[in-house]
Amino acid sequence: MQPYTPIAPFEVLSRRLGRRPEDIVKLDANENPYGPSPRALQALARADALHIYPDPDQTALREAISDYIGVPPEHILCGAGADEVIDLVARAFVRPGDAIIDLPPTFGMYRWVADVVNADYVAAPRRPDFSVDVQAVQAQVAGHMAPSDATSAVTRCKLLFIADPNNPDGSTVCDEQLRALLASPVVVVLDEAYVDFSARPSRVSWVPAYNNLIVLRTFSKLAGMAGLRVGYGVFPRAIIQHLWKIKQPYTPNVAGTVAAIAALSDRDYLRENARRLTAERRRMSEMLAQFGWLRPFPSEANFVLCRVAEDAPVNHGETSQPAARRLKQALEQQGVLVRYFDREGLRDCVRVSVGRPDQTDRLIAALKALSK
Ligand SMILES: *Cc1c(COP(=O)(O)O)cnc(C)c1O
Repeated sequence: MQPYTPIAPFEVLSRRLGRRPEDIVKLDANENPYGPSPRALQALARADALHIYPDPDQTALREAISDYIGVPPEHILCGAGADEVIDLVARAFVRPGDAIIDLPPTFGMYRWVADVVNADYVAAPRRPDFSVDVQAVQAQVAGHMAPSDATSAVTRCKLLFIADPNNPDGSTVCDEQLRALLASPVVVVLDEAYVDFSARPSRVSWVPAYNNLIVLRTFSKLAGMAGLRVGYGVFPRAIIQHLWKIKQPYTPNVAGTVAAIAALSDRDYLRENARRLTAERRRMSEMLAQFGWLRPFPSEANFVLCRVAEDAPVNHGETSQPAARRLKQALEQQGVLVRYFDREGLRDCVRVSVGRPDQTDRLIAALKALSK
């Protein structure tokens, strides 16, 4: 199997580029440059139970999340990041050979977890504008049902992963599309890691009404806690009881737990993060669009995917390489990090995370320097 390709650690890049970490503009991993709420930092500094194992029932954290999202704690299970919850769901549902449906281009973790559990990886690719082809998805689900004479009544097609807003382009699926997908005989895992930056409300409130909808959320993006590893899933009751059985008992850890609870107590800070990052997304998109050779896609997340024209004025690197990849490398030389994906449908694009206004200004200055 292919390993998951994480981005290079900051210190490693800093050394490779010969730049101090504070001189690097890191817009490659959708991290939140404002970091955690001051209340979360205080709670971490004051945490006094670090020698005690965490509560395996996550009682206090689940109550705090329940209060925040308006869904009873019985539907909530937390993990060391939403990534752990993705892994748990795959292990709970999939036997080798069962199908997992993925809608690429999208977050790489779904493909990776499908490989880990030895699933049959089934792609229902998005259209060129990244919208979901609902009929193609339904056809894939129908095409991967167990034959009617099978001894077991279960379908072979187990899970459908949808990132919404989608990473790496920031598009969303509308209510009507989601309802159509939920009508298929498959469990839909709706990954809302970026929903706080979107104009549409979260679908967590839909969960109690469906027996096949799982919604994932995280403290990594809006709450600025990617390094602390806290995420959660909102599940139908009939599903969640089985996940508790197979979950490692002591995640998230005590530090992540106290920080997450404090972060939720500071709603003004969360709202302010969403406001300033979406405002900056708009400003950055407009500035990027002014370069005739960049075409930013509309985004409802804290990043913007940009198509890079083949005749872009990037003199860096081998001309046999796509312009987008050369652009990524040329920006890196100037200490500005963006993400390039060597993957079908994305080879002519770069993804730029939304940072602080001064970071956008550095990015734009670096782009202008290229076209001189
Ligand atoms: C960042 C991201 C996550 C991962 O979140 P963690 O809670 O940090 O594990 C999940 N899904 C998508 C689509 C993401 O981009």
